[in-house]
Formats: sequence, structure tokens, C-alpha cells
Amino acid sequence: MNLPDSLHESAMKNREKIAYYFMDDPTTYEELNVSVNKFASGLAKAGIGEGDHVALLLGNSPHFIISLYGIMRVGATAIPINPTYTPSEIAYILKDGDVKAVIALDQMIPYIEKLRMAAPKIEHYIICETGAELNAEMETFSGILHSGDADFTAVPINSGDTAVILYTSGTTGKPKGAMLTHGNLYSNARDIRDYLKMGGEDTVITTLPMFHVFSLTVVLNAPLISGSTLIILPKFSPKEIFRVAKNFKATIFAGVPTMYNFLYQYPESNPDDFSSIRLCISGGASMPVALLKNFEEKFNVVISEGYGLSEASPVTSFNPLDRPRKPGSIGTSIMNVENKVVDEAGNELPAGEVGELAVRGPNVMKGYYNMPEETSKAIRDGWLYTGDLAKMDEEGYFYIVDRKKDLIIVGGYNVYPREVEEVLYGHPGVLEAAVIGVPDADQGEAVKAFIVPRDEKVDKAELHQFLAERLASYKLPKSIEFIEELPKNSTGKIMKRELKNRILQ
Ligand code: AMP
Repeated sequence: MNLPDSLHESAMKNREKIAYYFMDDPTTYEELNVSVNKFASGLAKAGIGEGDHVALLLGNSPHFIISLYGIMRVGATAIPINPTYTPSEIAYILKDGDVKAVIALDQMIPYIEKLRMAAPKIEHYIICETGAELNAEMETFSGILHSGDADFTAVPINSGDTAVILYTSGTTGKPKGAMLTHGNLYSNARDIRDYLKMGGEDTVITTLPMFHVFSLTVVLNAPLISGSTLIILPKFSPKEIFRVAKNFKATIFAGVPTMYNFLYQYPESNPDDFSSIRLCISGGASMPVALLKNFEEKFNVVISEGYGLSEASPVTSFNPLDRPRKPGSIGTSIMNVENKVVDEAGNELPAGEVGELAVRGPNVMKGYYNMPEETSKAIRDGWLYTGDLAKMDEEGYFYIVDRKKDLIIVGGYNVYPREVEEVLYGHPGVLEAAVIGVPDADQGEAVKAFIVPRDEKVDKAELHQFLAERLASYKLPKSIEFIEELPKNSTGKIMKRELKNRILQ
């Protein structure tokens, strides 16, 4: 089984059922399935097919779903990209990912000339029209859709074919494309559906960004193959979330801890707004236990925390619904997935001891695109090494203790210090730079940069502007501190732990 066939099956069973609401407008499963077929057929007519890579620069919208499933149905591979990235961040992925076609929001039009120059091999830019002026030679989403046939026959799919490539930095700083196969994506969506008992009665709030794997599997693919209804929200807004939860009697909400914090703090919320919600899901970063308890009490809901990573499609553990949940824990292994805690040599550690979390299952990626060496570092003897430090208790519940990998999580978004440092080193006034994550009341963590300036002429505001032109806004340092010298060990390695301790003192 695979996602596009499974959507087709869902549509045959639930023709008249609402697949999603977008801007409060309903679309049935049958309408969605027809659009996916037409879009796939339109792509095929435009010369896009088996083995081709198609990037998505889209926000949460029906365009995203129709494109993703259309690309899969035509035997091509989708590469979802965060549309708030800067042109240079996007161009890196377009080139590294050998992208042939891009489907983009019309807000991206001002970027397209830059992208054309940076990634000249791209043959198609397909623009989703939401109101902007288009020039005559631009290919459009509606043009592709209307050129296609509703009775398109899907290209036969093998479970080992790459369905999606997700760019992530893995355990080290360089962005790499995690290749998720049809088998990977389908198995994780199916297991999440079964684990959470998602079904036709569920209405799911989809506000997490669809280009991220948490959203993709948990609040997009799993509900669609369950025959549930999605409420697609283009951006995170507490007001909107409470409104749609109430009006549409939503049953499932998923978010990262910072979203829960914003919802909890939102002054105009009413505890009854979430009265139809049967399950809140948290993931992407550690959920503070106090926030979990306060939120549950205020809204009279259950929050179940899970854990995952792009390379595992993503979910590997979840707090169970039919056994006790343990606040502060990421739960137990989901069905078909194994978790273990290992020492430096890869030996499994007994309960209570801290080591690296390794996972195995049908959801684990095939590898990083064109990076066999990185793949063999990440997957050893069939186990994916997560780069997270964890321990397990006697009852098989796992707890994330720290990160082995260099990663900062700002409001659920991953920031790799090296990426920010590399941009900083490109500024003529920066002699040395080190970037760390520091605790932040709103976002969980914030980016902080320590800089040894070349001379006293370096200006913080100008430095900030320089970064803003090159990095997506969530990667920008919230604070920049000038420092005379960075702490280093005897081999000259910058001791980030020492910088962190300095902040925590
Ligand atoms: P991504 O590949 O963007 O999904 O990021 C995966 C990383 O997010 C993991 O390796 C963890 O470091 C972090 N993460 C995800 N879920 C949790 C969680 N529940 N608790 C702590 N860290 C998490």
C-alpha cells in the first residue's frame, strides 16, 4: 500500500465526506481525488513524471495537498521546502536536490529570477495564483490542473521508490536530503492512524507547517488515509485555532510546545473552546511538564507527547492512549518501531542509563540523497542513530535528556548553529563566531551569537541586517554579544558548553 492509492481508497469509501476545510470552504474526498488525478495528469502532459524531482514552495493550503499527491501519483518525488527561506537557502536545496520543477506560491514571484540564475537546470516554475499579477509565459497551478484528465491512471508505485526528500541537517550542520520512500511514509501514517485511533469521526486542526514532517504525517497523511476531516490553517493563530476548534467541533490538535504556550497565554481563550477536542498531540521539542499540566487543567484535555525526526518519517515513540501517560516522557515505541539506548560503542544500555537513542523500523529513511557516507554514519546495522541522548525506564518509556547533535529548536523549528556561523564568517567584520541555543520563555530556545569582532567599527545592527538577508527569520540570533576571545580547548575547539554555562549562571 502507498499514500496515493490509500487516498484513492479513502475517496471511494467517503465520496461525500469533507476531506478538508480551507478558509472555511469544504472540499469532499471525491473532489480532492479528482483534483489530484487531474493535477497528476497535467504534470505528465507537461513532461514531469517518474524519477523527476518537484520542489514545493507552499504554505498550508489545498495546493500543497493536491501537488504532493499529484506528484506521487505520477511517480515523481516531492521536495517540500520552507517558503520563508531566503533565496540562497532555497537555491541550495534546488541544486542539491536536482529539482526539475518548482511549484510555488505567487508571493515567491519576486524570488524567481534569482532562483532561475542560481539553479539554471529547473525547467518549470508552476505558480499558484492567489491574486498576484502573472506574466503570460508563467505556468500556473490552475493551468496544469485544467489541462489534466480526471481518469488519469496512477503510475505503479514500488514501496522502495522515493516519495519525498526532506532537507534536514541530521546530526551535523550540512543540509542533507532525507529520502523517504512510499513504504516509509505509508507505514508511519498508518501506524499513527492506528495508534491514535484516527477515523472518519475525527476533525483535525492542521496548523503545523505542511513542509515539515510532523505536520506531513500526523495531521495530513494520517487523517487523509483515515477518512478524517482536516481544517487547514495557513498560519498559526491562537484566535483562529480556538474559533475553528469550536465552530467545526475539532477532535484532534497537534502542535509544538511553543504553540501550546501561546494558546495557554492567549487572553481571550475560553476553556470551553476545546471541549470537542479528544486529543492534543505535542512533539518537535521537549514539552515542559508544568505547561502540559497547566494546559490540560485549563482546557480539560489530554496532551500526549511523541517524538520523531525527519529521517524516521518521523514518529518513533508516543505516550500511549490506553495505558498511563508519563508527562516529561516521549512515551513508548509505536507499533512496528523499535527504540534502544546505546553507548558510544553501540551496545544497548540497561534501563535508567543515558546514551544515544537509536531507532529501527519500516519508517526509517532509505538514506540521504547523494550522500552515501553521511547515510552510513546515520544508519548502522539497520539502526538510525538519532543524535539525541535519552534514557528508558523499567516500563519502556523513553525520556530525552539532551542532544548530542548541535541543534537549537526555536519554536519547533530547527536551527543548526553551523549554518548561522557560516553566514557570520562571511561578514568582513567577524573574526570568530560561535552560536548557541539559550532558554527562551516564548520560543523554548533562542539563538545567541558570540562574536569576536575584527575591529571596533563592527556594528550590531548592520550585522543583524547582513544575517537577515541570508537566513530565514527564525534562524536569526535574538542577541549578539561581542566578546574578546572565545573559550577554546587545547586542540583549539570552541567550548560551547562553557558559553552556555556563562549564560545560565
Ligand atoms: P526534525 O527532523 O526537524 O523533525 O527534528 C528532529 C529533532 O527534534 C529530534 O532529533 C529531536 O532533537 C527533536 N525532537 C522531536 N520531538 C521531540 C520531543 N518530544 N522532545 C525533545 N526533542 C524532540
